[in-house]
Amino acid sequence: MYNNNNQAGDRQMYKGTWTCSQCGAEITELPFEPDGNRPLYCRDCHRQQRQSRPRRF
Ligand SMILES: [Zn+2]
Repeated sequence: MYNNNNQAGDRQMYKGTWTCSQCGAEITELPFEPDGNRPLYCRDCHRQQRQSRPRRF
């Protein structure tokens, strides 16, 4: 029996070498595929962004 559910288990990570748009830190993996247009943030900066700019849906 195999449960084909995206929510369970490991999230796919994209490996590579990118630079954080904010602090310049090296990013080696991302939870999404970068399209080259939007800025990339390292974990710390990403967390700061979420805290400083809460989104409402
Ligand atoms: Zn950063």
